[in-house]
Amino acid sequence: MTLKVLSVASEAVPLVKTGGLADVAGALPAALARHKVDVTTLVPGYPAVGRAIGKGKLLHKWPSLLGEPARLLANKLGEQQLLVLDAPALFAREGGPYSDPSGKDWPDNWHRFAAFARAAADIAGGAVKGRSFDLVHVHDWQAAMTPAYLRFAPVKGGRDVPSTITIHNMAFQGYYDAAIFPQLGLPKSAWSMDGVESYGGVGFLKAGMQSADAITTVSPTYAGEIRSAEFGMGLEGIVLARSNRVHGILNGIDPAEWNPASDPHLAANYGAGKLAARKRNKRALELEFGLDKDDGPLFVVISRLTWQKGMDVLLEVLDHLVGIGGRLALLGSGDAAIEKDFQAAAKRHPGRIGVRIGYDEALSHRMQGGGDAILVPSRFEPCGLTQLYGLAYGCVPVVSRTGGLADTVIDANPAALAAGVATGIQMNAVTFPALAMAVSRTAELYARIDQWKRLQQNGMKADFSWDASGAAYAALYRQLVEGRG
Ligand code: ADP
Repeated sequence: MTLKVLSVASEAVPLVKTGGLADVAGALPAALARHKVDVTTLVPGYPAVGRAIGKGKLLHKWPSLLGEPARLLANKLGEQQLLVLDAPALFAREGGPYSDPSGKDWPDNWHRFAAFARAAADIAGGAVKGRSFDLVHVHDWQAAMTPAYLRFAPVKGGRDVPSTITIHNMAFQGYYDAAIFPQLGLPKSAWSMDGVESYGGVGFLKAGMQSADAITTVSPTYAGEIRSAEFGMGLEGIVLARSNRVHGILNGIDPAEWNPASDPHLAANYGAGKLAARKRNKRALELEFGLDKDDGPLFVVISRLTWQKGMDVLLEVLDHLVGIGGRLALLGSGDAAIEKDFQAAAKRHPGRIGVRIGYDEALSHRMQGGGDAILVPSRFEPCGLTQLYGLAYGCVPVVSRTGGLADTVIDANPAALAAGVATGIQMNAVTFPALAMAVSRTAELYARIDQWKRLQQNGMKADFSWDASGAAYAALYRQLVEGRG
C-alpha cells in the first residue's frame, strides 16, 4: 500500500535554504518514492517561493489562521508535490526565512510558525477537501507545534493521524515567553509539562517532542548524545523519558546535485578513477581566491561562521596551518566578529588564506571539487552535510568526533590505514592542540601521495545515497501507521 505523507518544513531545496534542513526536506520525497511513500511538502509562502514556482492552484482558505487570513496553494516543482501556505501578513517579507534583511530574527516568529503548524495540523486532520494523509512528518521547531495541535486541538471530526518529528539541530528550540500562550489557540490543558510548557515559557520543539509519536534525529551518534545535558540543551529529560521512541537516521546526499562526474559547476569533471583531473579545479580555485600556486594542501571551509562550527578555534589555528605550508579558502557567513577575524587573517596571510563572506551555492561546489581537505571542527554536529559532499568529491574531511561526523568519517589511524578503509581525519576535541594536530596529520598524509589517493578513493566509493535512510524512514512511517490502525 502506498503511504501518503505530509512533510512540513520551513525550508526546502531548491526553494529556500539556510542549512542542512533544506537539503533534507528537498531530497526526502525522491528518496521515499522508491519505498512506496508519496510525500507532499508544506512550505511557507515566502516571496522566493512564489518567484520560483508561480501561484499554484487554490485548495483552501482560512479566514483567520491564528488571526491572519491565509490560503493553501497546490503546486509542483519537477517531481516534488508542494503545498504553499500563502499568508502575506506572515510570510510576504524580504530577508531570510527567519530574519529581516539585516539578519535580526523577526519578532513575531512565534506567530508565523505557530500559524504554519496550525495549518499543517488542519491539513493532516482532513480539513482540506480532497487531500488526506496517513502520517505527518515535521521538521525542527518551526514545524514542531503541529503534533501539539493534533493532540490538543485537533480538527473537529478529523482524522487521527500519527506524527513524527525530526530534530535537525537541538540548539534551535523556538522558546518563547509564556505570554504568547493564550494566542496559540490551544486549550488550557496544553499548558503543562507534558504539553507545550517548557521552563516557564512556551517551547515549540519541546512541544513537538512531547506530542509526536516518534522522534528522529539525523545520526545515530547524535541520537545518543542528546540524552546528555551538554547536547540535549535542556531537553535531555524528554529524550530520556521517550527514549524508546527516539531514532537516529543518517541524512543522505542527493546524487543529482552532488556528483563530481556530472557537476556543471566544475571546471573539470572526474571520478574515483580519474582523480588527476581535479588539478584543474584546484588551480581554478587558487585563482578565484587569490592564493599562491604550490604543491601543499589546500584546505577549504564551507560553513556557518559560528561557535557550534568551531570557527573560533579554527581562527586560532590559522598561523599554524600556514606555518606548515597549508593554504585555506573559506566561504561562509555568520557571527560578525568571526567574519571580521577571518577577513583580518586573510590580510595577514596574503596568498595563503582567502576568505569569501556570503552564501554561494555554486562556489561551494567548486570548493569541494578543487580543495584537498575540508575542515569541519564542529563542537556538535547532528549530521553534517559538508563532510559527506567532501567524501563524494575526494575533498578529504577533517572533522571532530561528534554526531554525524563520527558516524560518517573513518579516521586514518594506523589500523584503518592498514585495513585500507580510512576516509578522513578525526580529532577528539575542539581545542587548539587537537585541531592543530589534525591539520598537521592532514599535511603529513597529503605528502604521501599514494596514501592520500587511497583516502580520497575510499571516500568517493562510500555510499551516502538516500537508499538506506529512505528505507529507514519508510519502515518507521509504516510502524507508526500500523500502530494507529
Ligand atoms: P548546518 O545545517 O548546521 O548549517 P550542514 O553541514 O548540515 O550544517 O549543512 C550546511 C549546508 O549549507 C550544506 O549544504 C553546505 O554546503 C551549505 N552551506 C553552508 N554555508 C554555505 C555558504 N556560505 N555558501 C554556500 N553553501 C553553504
